Amino acid sequence: MYVCGVTVYDECHLGHARSAIVFDVIRRYLGYRGYQVNYVKNFTDVDDKILNRAAEESIPWKQVTEKYVRTYYRDMHRLGVTNPDIEPRATDHMTDIIKMIKALVEKGHAYQVDHDVFYEVSTFVSYGQLGKRKLEDMQAGARVEIDTRKRDPMDFALWKGAKPGEPVWDSPWGPGRPGWHIECSAMSVHHLGGVFDIHGGGKDLIFPHHENEIAQSCAATGQEFSRFWVHNGFVTIDEEKMSKSLGNFFTVREIFDKSNCPDTVTAETLRYFLLMTHYRSDVNFSNQAVSEAKSALDNLYGLFQRLQEASSHESHEETTIQPRLDQFAQAFEEAMDDDFNTPKAFAEFQQLRTEINQMLPAGLSDSSRKQIREAFQRCGDPLGLFQLPDHEWVSRPLEFSGASGTMQDEQKELTDEWIQEQIHQRAQARLGKDFAAADQIRQDLAAQGIILEDRPDGTTRWKR
Ligand SMILES: [Zn+2]
Repeated sequence: MYVCGVTVYDECHLGHARSAIVFDVIRRYLGYRGYQVNYVKNFTDVDDKILNRAAEESIPWKQVTEKYVRTYYRDMHRLGVTNPDIEPRATDHMTDIIKMIKALVEKGHAYQVDHDVFYEVSTFVSYGQLGKRKLEDMQAGARVEIDTRKRDPMDFALWKGAKPGEPVWDSPWGPGRPGWHIECSAMSVHHLGGVFDIHGGGKDLIFPHHENEIAQSCAATGQEFSRFWVHNGFVTIDEEKMSKSLGNFFTVREIFDKSNCPDTVTAETLRYFLLMTHYRSDVNFSNQAVSEAKSALDNLYGLFQRLQEASSHESHEETTIQPRLDQFAQAFEEAMDDDFNTPKAFAEFQQLRTEINQMLPAGLSDSSRKQIREAFQRCGDPLGLFQLPDHEWVSRPLEFSGASGTMQDEQKELTDEWIQEQIHQRAQARLGKDFAAADQIRQDLAAQGIILEDRPDGTTRWKR
């Protein structure tokens, strides 16, 4: 399985968390079903966004990528997402990338103009098949780069000739760097071969990224590429698309930092919340929906705690619980086998919980209670749920302090005085050589839409 990973130029937000959790669950469930999964997820570590960020912060671009690879791992760890087996970076695969571009040029699918190389889309007859779209429609809807050197506006860059100040690698077309799409083709084929089972990513990647990947890989190798495509939906916030410009942008770090519960509890609640919706549909993030997820888990962990505390009634039990638990496991598998239908799986969890709650007052034997708990665990593990000891679950309502509703409300309350005070504290931290603290203040302000610019004279200018 190959999944398109993050471009490491900023903190992860809820959308990244969703994609990571969806593919974590797919990987875990395939393992539960007895498949051996080789899971590859890349880091895009050379890209316009990274170079722009480096220029903005006046730091080397590698410092940008290293920083955000670190924050990515920190977030994934907090979310309880297991690392993929292989995490290749574009900059470590220049040889594979150049090799594939060369093959495309040799086979007549790509052409050189100056020091750039473009893929000629019209040479790949099934282009657009993944999104089931016609070339003309895509052309009308796409924001294609205006470049008169291209034979067709839909053609896309495989290799970009060197520009001043940008990182470069040597190639048969002169020094330069790869376009974005080619890295995933080169790295997936390198690690998994010309044909593999699952290719995944967010649904925003279907066009152009995944259409382009198919065109590149199939044309270069003459093979099928991915057998199945799995695309997860977006995360919206209060029914609006999450975006930085709308100010309703939640980073994973913010969510954990603002939560009134331990990280493990917050992580499972987020996971349950995100999996309450089928992965292909969009998820709407709201305090209400997160509360529902939290109380669903409160009820399950509440049952687990009662199963531990209940006293044994060994002799009165006439029927065994095992057939019902077998039926539960079967229903769980049927739901998950049907395109990873996690909402349906959750319905099975809650149905069994209700039934066991009704049985508890009459008493259950020690062995029945143990079997019940184990049945929940077996089906919880592939979803990454019930991963903390039962007694460590906190059943108070989950709240995000300072994040009632959207970030927009909060932003209005950022007074000029308060911002000046933050800048003062940052200056103090820098004077005391506490650069980590100073950096943190800058980042926190940035997360709230306040950008700082240091003047040569040591003072700091800010803008919203
Ligand atoms: Zn990709």
